[in-house]
Amino acid sequence: MVDRQYHLQFDSQRAADVDAYLEYTRIVGEDDHGVTFTPEQYEEYKRRVIPMRINNRLFTSWTTPSGMDCKLIGPQTLCFCNHRYYQHKTDFDAIPSERPIKLPCMVNGCPCRSYHYMPLNGTQPVRCTCKHFPDMHSVVEPYKCKQGSCRCGGYRTAFTCSCGQPAYNHSMIVETKKERIARGHPVGQDVPYKAMGGLTGFSSLMEGYQRLDESGIGAPNEEFLNQPITSLDHPFLRSNVQSIRAYKLAAGAPDFADDDAERISATKWPGESDMDYFERRFQERKRLEKQRARLGSGPSPAPIRFAQRAVQGRGANGALPPNMAVNGGSIMAGPSRNDQAGTQPSGSGGRKAVGKGGVVGKKFVKK
Ligand SMILES: [Zn+2]
Ligand SMILES: [Zn+2]
Ligand SMILES: [Zn+2]
Ligand SMILES: [Zn+2]
Ligand SMILES: [Zn+2]
Repeated sequence: MVDRQYHLQFDSQRAADVDAYLEYTRIVGEDDHGVTFTPEQYEEYKRRVIPMRINNRLFTSWTTPSGMDCKLIGPQTLCFCNHRYYQHKTDFDAIPSERPIKLPCMVNGCPCRSYHYMPLNGTQPVRCTCKHFPDMHSVVEPYKCKQGSCRCGGYRTAFTCSCGQPAYNHSMIVETKKERIARGHPVGQDVPYKAMGGLTGFSSLMEGYQRLDESGIGAPNEEFLNQPITSLDHPFLRSNVQSIRAYKLAAGAPDFADDDAERISATKWPGESDMDYFERRFQERKRLEKQRARLGSGPSPAPIRFAQRAVQGRGANGALPPNMAVNGGSIMAGPSRNDQAGTQPSGSGGRKAVGKGGVVGKKFVKK
């Protein structure tokens, strides 16, 4: 077995060539009919096709009646006709006016009239209720079984999707950007690639129930990514302040002094006990939150920012919003559990419990 393995080694030029070819196949798909375009033809093709893709992109998804896209169709997703999505017609000079929009298969001799997602159980095709596999059925609606004596009236499976609905309750949706926005689903960024279907972000390949967030909407903006790291952030981010600084200095950026105070305060003072340190850090965090609340437009921007970070993937799961940490604290405090829970601690009465809450919350977060 070992002697049959290949070890490919590329220098940087050849690696770049491989990347260029990959990019080429993603843009062209099978539009070159197996004969690679010359550079001139390629440029000409891109000039003609890319504006079309950006203006007339169609978003394809397999959707449950509640509106959740259980499966977002990508270029390599199989159709019922056993060809992939990119082998179907997806580029349109003008968006067709009739609905539903038909995406016929472009493979020679394939009678498939429109892309139709076939649910898979893992990687396995699921049998029809007539016990025959999907490829024994006609690829034209109503997908009748072709097995000699089988009286199946059309492919139908008892398979239950991960959303809890049977597969036959789902429908194929082919929609324009406008229609998708109106439905409240992410459209991502404009891309030059062929047959991107419903893929709009990194989470698009997950199943619908795992993807109930807006992270498919694209990368967060520069300002969001470059905001200084403060004691409100997850310990993992805070522990990397020094390496981020070193990286920025090496890249020739001016030293960022705006969070010097934060960095100094994040280290333990000589002689300070663990409890004192966490108490001090918690009080600082409360102060910062109040400051933010005063500056910000909303009633309490800090927790919102937390939530946003969690969604955008910057704050990891360990980062509790501040009021959750407080609740945790009051639970630990015991007798005052019920009257503390859920209230924002501002009066002096709740102060002590809050302080402890900070300690407990912090320790919890640190783990
Ligand atoms: Zn086909
Ligand atoms: Zn097809
Ligand atoms: Zn059958
Ligand atoms: Zn059947
Ligand atoms: Zn589903």
